Amino acid sequence: MTSAFWHPFSDMAKVGPNPFIIEKSDDVYLWDKDGKRYLDATASLWYMNVGHGRSEIVEAIYDQARKLPVYSTFGDFSNEPAETLAHMLSERSPEPGSKIFFVGGGGEAVETAAKLARRYFSAIGKPEKTYIIHRHHSYHGTNGLGTSLAGIPANTAGFGPMVRETEEIPTHDAEALEAAVVRLGADNVAGFIVEPVIGAGGVYPPMPGYMEAVAQICKRHDILLIVDAVICGFGRIGTFFSPERFGIKPDLITFAKGVTSGYLPLGGVVVSPKVAAPFWENPGTVFRHGPTYAGHPTCCAAGVANIKILEREGLIERGAQLEGDLLASLKSAEPFSIVSEIRGGVGLLGAVELSSEYLEKHPQGVGLLQNEMRSRGVFVRTLSTAVAFSPPLTIEREHLDEISSALADSLSALE
Ligand code: PLP
Repeated sequence: MTSAFWHPFSDMAKVGPNPFIIEKSDDVYLWDKDGKRYLDATASLWYMNVGHGRSEIVEAIYDQARKLPVYSTFGDFSNEPAETLAHMLSERSPEPGSKIFFVGGGGEAVETAAKLARRYFSAIGKPEKTYIIHRHHSYHGTNGLGTSLAGIPANTAGFGPMVRETEEIPTHDAEALEAAVVRLGADNVAGFIVEPVIGAGGVYPPMPGYMEAVAQICKRHDILLIVDAVICGFGRIGTFFSPERFGIKPDLITFAKGVTSGYLPLGGVVVSPKVAAPFWENPGTVFRHGPTYAGHPTCCAAGVANIKILEREGLIERGAQLEGDLLASLKSAEPFSIVSEIRGGVGLLGAVELSSEYLEKHPQGVGLLQNEMRSRGVFVRTLSTAVAFSPPLTIEREHLDEISSALADSLSALE
């Protein structure tokens, strides 16, 4: 039977006839349909923070689905899991009194934050503040605004202009933010969006002081700081939402992935009291935005159960505790001439970059490395010129050793 399933970001002319079927999973391991075992060195797509096979989350989903699987939350309709999860997230946010806007995933969270930044300024009488500034290498999902805010050229090519009022700046240069604001005019800029550690764009940790500097620039120019914590949240870099690691208080924080460890889809935005105020205090000022499944009770129940595990097992801190160990395990790639850089060291995130000479000769080189590692029982994620590592926060040092030796053996097979 020919597959009818069109995979995201995938060359279906090649994948179509040969889908690779994963059948089951437990903790940091997965098994294919022939029973072969693989170490999940990427926590699926950066999100399986508590690891696979958590019956506590599955039971929470089952219990909620039997009681009230889903119902709308428009108007005054609500449900217990959405109320509980919003309360838990608000209590743990950098600013007490923050509000939580739920959506279905990370791309919708970015869309929500970017629209809310503009809507906030129009609500306080500054409707001309519409530009959103973003960084080269950044990834913010595949919706309209998120695509326009992407700093990965391959992801914007071929779609034509989507949202014109976006502006890209270099990845590590805080002064470039200030210069862009001056160039555009602060009166025209609504926000600056930043991933603490850039993920899908290549795993680029911030330069020391960068996050603190951009937070100050935003404040000085009355621009909303939007931290895209879709990958970095829920322990990935060692703190709950991720901005806490830098001591900054963003106006908006987008989250998804680790909020449920992916057991069910969920995303959202933490809205600071300043941004929420015009909407929560003035009847008639409405944010006319929100997807059908905002505050989905079953997804929120998964979130509550997931956060209880993250905190009870000390997994939030583990992202930072193991960051040096992950980086050390990737150093097994150092001796190989086809490797040009090893990145990581902030959170349980890493990347091994292949040299441009090698990729010129072997344009599919990143995929070849992924395949070599897969044949040695380790899943890694391909980025445009690198492979990425972001294992579950439950990973142990012996698993990191497995990654390390599979990496060295794979590179040696390619060199
Ligand atoms: N923002 C960041 C930083 C991401 O890494 C991603 C996905 O990887 C998104 C947004 C989009 O999230 P989703 O794929 O859930 O729409």
